[in-house]
Amino acid sequence: MRSVITGGAGFIGSHLTEHLLALGDEVVVLDDMSTGAPRNLIDSLPNPRLSIVHGSILDRDTVMATIAGADRVFHLAAAVGVKLIVEQPLSSLRTNIHGTENVLDACVEARATLLLVSTSEIYGKNTADRLTEDSDRILGSPLKSRWTYAAAKGIDEAFAHAYWSEYGLDVAIVRLFNTVGPRQTGRYGMVVPNLVGQALRGEPLTVYGDGNQTRCFSYVGDVVPAMVRLVEEPAAYGEAFNLGGAEEVSIVNLAHRILDVTGSRSPITFVSYSEAYAAGFEDMRRRVPDFSRAYALVGFVPATPLDEIIRRVAEEMLTSRSLDHEGPGTRSAALDARGA
Ligand code: UDP
Repeated sequence: MRSVITGGAGFIGSHLTEHLLALGDEVVVLDDMSTGAPRNLIDSLPNPRLSIVHGSILDRDTVMATIAGADRVFHLAAAVGVKLIVEQPLSSLRTNIHGTENVLDACVEARATLLLVSTSEIYGKNTADRLTEDSDRILGSPLKSRWTYAAAKGIDEAFAHAYWSEYGLDVAIVRLFNTVGPRQTGRYGMVVPNLVGQALRGEPLTVYGDGNQTRCFSYVGDVVPAMVRLVEEPAAYGEAFNLGGAEEVSIVNLAHRILDVTGSRSPITFVSYSEAYAAGFEDMRRRVPDFSRAYALVGFVPATPLDEIIRRVAEEMLTSRSLDHEGPGTRSAALDARGA
């Protein structure tokens, strides 16, 4: 089985790469290394079934050439992270819309099946008890850059669905709810690596707003196998599936849990949204998935408890020395020096 992973050097992509290699696939990673990095693949690099194409999904020729001959494609490459999107809305729109169109066309050409990775952001401000795949989307103004990601991903999903219905493309869509785990970087604002890093360095934990907004964090190691099972399941084509965690936690409670698990004595500090992001920033107060559709079709269960997730994130930060802010002498610097 030949699998192409766009964004395969990113946080989730690198875990997916490891999983597919373990299943025996030949894996081709297409990544522009903008938010991904070769060091994420350090354990997979020696595997002869892995190859890496350094290129952008905006480069149509590269996308076509890379996907030609693929059996299945996992499309993860995207401009991600609320902070990055607020700062660079244009790149978010271009990469997430034009890049996805290139991937869709290449999959049709190659007759490959496709897993399109989307996001819970598309539900916007809907605070329903449990968001099902058919829940309404409640988005703020498109002139607020926070919503450009949700807008772009919504268009991606509509494109994928139209390719399925008009071109017969076998495509399944997953909507990820705050997937976390080792190797996720805090550089683009994600809360778990940010707060765990702060706790381990003895810095104040920055909780934005009043901290009562809630999320359901899911472990990358639970989500990735479900993604593979979905792309192998014909009943999944033309459909979307929520993949998320079972425990709803407020961000201030998350901060306390991180302090407990890491044994850190850092204080918690509250930071206003306008200071953290930009004036007029709108957050989601609550985001709780109903993942019964993925459970029913492929047995998806978010089995890893939050404290265990925090423990693994902290352990990886300490052993990979990413806490050193990736200075000289770290594993990543050594890899980059080798041109990997
Ligand atoms: N957040 C926080 N401190 C941080 C980073 C994020 O309090 O250092 C908050 C953020 O405002 C949001 C929640 O944590 O309410 C989850 O943020 P993240 O960017 O991880 O994911 P998303 O907003 O996409 O759910």
